[in-house]
This record gives sequence, C-alpha cells and structure tokens, in this order.
Amino acid sequence: MAILHLVPESNPVLRTPTKAVTDFGESLQTTIDDMFETMYEVRGAGLAATQVGLDIRLAVIDVTADKSQQLVLINPEIIESSGSQKMEMGCLSLPGCWAAIKRSGWVKIRAQDRRGEIYEMEGEGILAEAFQHEIDHLDGVLFIDKLSSLKQKMVRQRAKKVLKRQSRD
Ligand SMILES: [Zn+2]
Repeated sequence: MAILHLVPESNPVLRTPTKAVTDFGESLQTTIDDMFETMYEVRGAGLAATQVGLDIRLAVIDVTADKSQQLVLINPEIIESSGSQKMEMGCLSLPGCWAAIKRSGWVKIRAQDRRGEIYEMEGEGILAEAFQHEIDHLDGVLFIDKLSSLKQKMVRQRAKKVLKRQSRD
C-alpha cells in the first residue's frame, strides 16, 4: 500500500466532474487500499479520488474513530434526502479550513462496492455529511463553493496562514 499525494486546491481535477468507474480490476483495488491508507494517515473521515488527482467516480469514507466502518463508494448517487443540518466540517484539500454548510440531515445513497455490487445505504449526522461532501467532490464541487464570497475569502486567508505555518516547521 502507499500514501498518495493530495493535490493542491489549484489543481483543475478538483473542479472537474469525474468519469464513471467500469473496470473493477486489480488497479482499482490497489487505488482503494491506498486511498484508505492515505485518509487514515491524515486523519480524515472521507477521501474522494479527485483529491489524489484521479478523475474517477470513487470515494472512501470512515467516520468511526476505530477504523471499523470502511465504506467504498463507487459511482455513488444520492437517491433520497430529507431534513437539514449545519455541521462544522473540514476538507483535506483545504487544510485548516472549517466551515458549516446547510445540508440534508438524512440521505440515502446508491453506490457500487469494490466488487461492483450495487448497494443502498442510509446515513444521518456525520455520515450524511460525509456522503454529501464526498459526492460533491466527485461532481467537481468543493465545500467552500457553497459559502458566500466573503466567507470564502476568510476561509482561504485562514488556510494560507496554516500552510505558511506548516512550511516553517
Ligand atoms: Zn473534502
């Protein structure tokens, strides 16, 4: 397994809707394992393929603290949603940025697992947040796109400071 490189926010792949996965062969299996390893390494709860520079419709999620619920979302879509919530969330593509966005409080997704089997799953709270956040990534959308332009500016300035501090260490 390998730790993958997270692409910077300026990389156009983060802004491009992804292509459907059709080949569930060995190279996809390796990518999935590497994405989990990368996500755990940086203590994320979700990682989309675009964030590691791949334009394919694949994301991994684990919102548990003990790595006990590894979810693989291939070609996922939200098929039902209800309620609303506003949860403070970060994004591995925007280090140090945290913002709350109004989203559905409950969603049902349909996706394929790593073998290509179709499954449906419901989620609320943090899991609903992760489903929506990662599926947005696969559509070329970052969570800051949903903030007002003033808030986007503030979030970006904060991220710049964090990156500066990190490069000094
Ligand atoms: Zn993200």
